[in-house]
Amino acid sequence: MKSRDLVGSLLLMLSGVHAWAAAEPVLIENVTVVSPELAQPSGPRNVLIREGRIEAVSEKPIAAPAAVRRVNGAGRYLTPGIFDAHVHVSDAVGLPFDGNDPALKELATQFFAQQPRSYLYFGVTQVLDLANQPSQVALFAAQPKHPDTFRCGAAPIVDGYPLVWIPKETRHAGLSTYIFEPANAREHPLPSGAVAAEHTPEAVVERIAATDARCVKMFIEDGFGDQNDWPTPSVETLRRVRAAAHKHGLLLMVHANAIDMQRMAIEADVDVIVHGIWNWNELNDEQGMPAAVAEHLRRIRAKDIGYQATLRVLPGVSDLLRPDLLDDPVYPKVVPPALLAWYRTEPAQWFKNTVYGPKVDAAAVVAGERAANARWETSEKGMRALRYLYELGQPLLLGSDTPSAPTYGNQPGYDTFREMQLMSQSGIPLSAILAAATINNARRLKMDKDYGTVERGKIANLLLLDANPLASVEAWARIDTVILRGELIERKTLAADSR
Ligand SMILES: [Zn+2]
Repeated sequence: MKSRDLVGSLLLMLSGVHAWAAAEPVLIENVTVVSPELAQPSGPRNVLIREGRIEAVSEKPIAAPAAVRRVNGAGRYLTPGIFDAHVHVSDAVGLPFDGNDPALKELATQFFAQQPRSYLYFGVTQVLDLANQPSQVALFAAQPKHPDTFRCGAAPIVDGYPLVWIPKETRHAGLSTYIFEPANAREHPLPSGAVAAEHTPEAVVERIAATDARCVKMFIEDGFGDQNDWPTPSVETLRRVRAAAHKHGLLLMVHANAIDMQRMAIEADVDVIVHGIWNWNELNDEQGMPAAVAEHLRRIRAKDIGYQATLRVLPGVSDLLRPDLLDDPVYPKVVPPALLAWYRTEPAQWFKNTVYGPKVDAAAVVAGERAANARWETSEKGMRALRYLYELGQPLLLGSDTPSAPTYGNQPGYDTFREMQLMSQSGIPLSAILAAATINNARRLKMDKDYGTVERGKIANLLLLDANPLASVEAWARIDTVILRGELIERKTLAADSR
């Protein structure tokens, strides 16, 4: 084992898994419990937390240990912590990828120190990173306070998305878990020097399973916008990956957001599609629910395929055109002050300029996109699809895809909350949003023994709210205290401007 790997493993062991337990037991008295297994908020309850887990939830007084810390829960709401099952913790939001400039590196360092605190600030106590290496996730989990952190191993195909962003010569050098797709062999052969037997679905999944991964992530993407010539995996390959993943107890999570791409995912019976369907291809201009989209969503429901709507992906980019974006009073809570100041500079507009061109007339673009039924409206289609799927009885899954692109319009934690706001605007009831944010992800990821409800035996990752989240989605931003493995953390101490 190389020494760098050893350090990485130690970091994971020490901080990712929380080997220690919180020091003092905690007794929360007379609190209203809001938890997805309850039909409605409970009457006053007493909740005892010890050794990082919930030991008792009772209507009656609990005989507490002498050294217990008592918390008055009267007038407050106790919920499970939020599980965001689609994040990318290695991206310093808004910064260019190749920043060798020491000033930018310092901003990235400040971002990475704040990032897990920003998730906690919005009540996110578990995250699933969908596409990073163990070493990249270890940095996140090495911060003193951080959500419980899980990851998938990424398995793109040769020359496929997202490798397609990297220059061809070096594209496969940094990742050992790419898969050779025989159906694309002519145009996308195995890179020279690579051994075919090491890049079969079975061999790649086996290597991913040897890490701490919970899942395998694949990508069905033939291009964004007018592009449609990127190679995609065959249904046969997807099926082989799924079979190999299940053999190792892993799930297959798949990127796909256009109807033709998602059809391949459905055909292959993947476990979770990690994007909503917002690109209806030739049906993009249809109003209401076109029959073909309805049929598509019914197949997702019938096959019990998990579905993350990721409604914030497109607004996260187009928000860059909003002149008041950086005046949002939440930004100083989740963005370090020096980074927020940099977002206001000309060099920070690099991604906006890449997407919209350097001389963009923001107001005109926004109006034009609305009129042309383009980017803004496509999120509206995602909302329509989500609502339809909910009405079919689908258990929804919360995943924000933060950040979905190098846009400072996405921010850790804040976008998890904004995703929930958009779900609410889509017409999803608050009880279904509560379930999506807690038990549904825990169940789908087979972690419901530890997470998802306020019940005896579960890990004490909980939120104490000042408002009822079954009365308003805004309650999820009215967090008083975050409870992480039984440790009480006052919300305001997690803010970026409190340091
Ligand atoms: Zn993503």
